[in-house]
Amino acid sequence: MTAHDEVRFRSCLDDVAAYKPGKPPERADGRPTYKLSSNENPYPPLPGVLAAATEAAASMNRYPDMGALELLETLSARFDVPVSDLAVATGSVALLYHLLQASCAEGDEVVYAWRSFEAYPIAVQLTGATSVQVPLTDDARHDFKAMAAALTDRTRVVLVCTPNNPTGPVVHRDELVSFLDAVPRNVLVVIDEAYREFVREPATVDGVELYRDRPNVVVLRTFSKAYGLAGFRVGYAVGHAPVITAIRKCALPFGVSEIAQTAAVASLKAEAELLERVEALVAERTRVVGELRAAGWDVPETHANFVWMPLGDDTVAFAEAAQAEGVSIRPFPGDGARVTIGEPEANDLFLGVARSWRR
Ligand SMILES: *Cc1c(COP(=O)(O)O)cnc(C)c1O
Repeated sequence: MTAHDEVRFRSCLDDVAAYKPGKPPERADGRPTYKLSSNENPYPPLPGVLAAATEAAASMNRYPDMGALELLETLSARFDVPVSDLAVATGSVALLYHLLQASCAEGDEVVYAWRSFEAYPIAVQLTGATSVQVPLTDDARHDFKAMAAALTDRTRVVLVCTPNNPTGPVVHRDELVSFLDAVPRNVLVVIDEAYREFVREPATVDGVELYRDRPNVVVLRTFSKAYGLAGFRVGYAVGHAPVITAIRKCALPFGVSEIAQTAAVASLKAEAELLERVEALVAERTRVVGELRAAGWDVPETHANFVWMPLGDDTVAFAEAAQAEGVSIRPFPGDGARVTIGEPEANDLFLGVARSWRR
């Protein structure tokens, strides 16, 4: 077979790494293992949410409500935004893909801070557009002065991640407002607030407040983290009608299953109870960060359900040491590791590794 006979794909796919499924941690001695690598919520589903989802499974022979109307109406009431300003999809990552597909093609540029969410470079590359990555500041925050300087007449989209995955700091309202004043009105600004519910810093921007009088701002939120529905894939976007219409044009039909829609509605109804769990995770985060700092680790502030370990060249070895204790974390080789705040036993195992690590 010659190159001539091979099926051809768009050249922008050439440098995209194919997803490699990770191994769950395993221990030969049978002691429990913990996954602190995907920022999941360690709590099992609330009984009421599980019951509602189970009941919805009985209609699996039917397509879901393509308009997701009950979920949109529940979100509309919860956040005081019109239904026409809301879209749902199979996770907020799907919404990001739709927004980029709707906005970008070869030759266009997408500006975002780096390091940030690992899905961003892949999502941009698949459109054929070019990523313009602007280094974080020394304290792992967005550098908006440098981001404003990186805008060109080819910039179509700016991605802002607050709290920033994987480093943890939030974007403050005042800094984002002055940045937005420097962004041309025809450039879409995506505010990714996947960890919003874990934030305890009053100066933090609230995307849903900010989008109201800014037609080029769209906010992404998710049920995957604080609401504990990662396995069901539901996220939502809040933006003005033209942005939402563009998302809907790109969306896969019937993406969000009836079970997922039902679980999301039930989760919003059980929000008070779910947010108590978030509060407990925030308390664990405070404990973990305090103990790391007491042990001499220079970790950045975090307002999410994870902490960033700036390990540099030791990253992979540290991740292996954690794995040996039954804890899987997320290494970014040569840079650092992201460790999810999980159940206290898991956090204790991780803290044990961190305390005994020689630097
Ligand atoms: C987890 C995460 C998401 C949400 O992903 P889903 O597709 O909704 O599960 C989005 N953005 C960031 C930065 C995340 O860390």
